[in-house]
Amino acid sequence: MQLGEQNWRDAAQLTHKVVVIPTGAFEQHGYHLPLLTDSLIGSETVRRAEAELGDEALFLPMLWLGASEHHRAFPGTVSLSNATYVQVISEMLESLIDSGFRRIFLLNSHGGNIIPGQMAIYDVQRQYYKQYPDLWLAFSSWFEIAGEQCAAIDGLTQNSIIHACEWETAMILKLRPELVKRDALTGTRFEYASAFYTPDFSKPSRVSVARTIDQISPSGAFGYPERATSEQGEQLFTVATQEIVAFIREFATWKPFPMK
Ligand SMILES: [Zn+2]
Repeated sequence: MQLGEQNWRDAAQLTHKVVVIPTGAFEQHGYHLPLLTDSLIGSETVRRAEAELGDEALFLPMLWLGASEHHRAFPGTVSLSNATYVQVISEMLESLIDSGFRRIFLLNSHGGNIIPGQMAIYDVQRQYYKQYPDLWLAFSSWFEIAGEQCAAIDGLTQNSIIHACEWETAMILKLRPELVKRDALTGTRFEYASAFYTPDFSKPSRVSVARTIDQISPSGAFGYPERATSEQGEQLFTVATQEIVAFIREFATWKPFPMK
């Protein structure tokens, strides 16, 4: 159910429901995928989740503008700074909380939004928790909430998402095949000798290093996009939607954790 399709008096009667804010990005995705990739993928998972949930949850429109400063060297990228992004998300949350909503889920489809998105929910929680002990603010990305389940799909080369990679290419092949430049499928792969750090952000590093995307990849794409198929894309959408729907249904029932 779209919150934007309700009038304000009806919205006031729906504040017991989970509100979902889909967050995406508008940034380079290599030589072969469109700038809007993350928002297209996020919108499709939301469309499928909403079809299943009906009026069980309220959805906002896709917030297509994300925190993509590390992609700015590539033309066409449109981005907010991390500080502005924290402010935008915080003020969206404040609007919803002041309207009476108490369960809000940021459903993300872009890695760069994770740190500022988490900062925003902590800031706003700290601001309101004494006044509204029943307030729940949650953040996850489809590739976090369904990461393990997606990795178990047969035939995938990558065991996690990277960027403009096998997973994202498969999903755009399923969704908008005409937007995939099939003669330009290429992704940077890393062989790196350090025990402490890898520029491959699909793998854990013990040390964080600041790197913009143009410092680590000429194309801006990573992994194995040339192995992607639209069948894998369909499976990724199916699995991601299942986990998102399961979480939203459970989130609707969460009670404060007992303190001992
Ligand atoms: Zn992406």
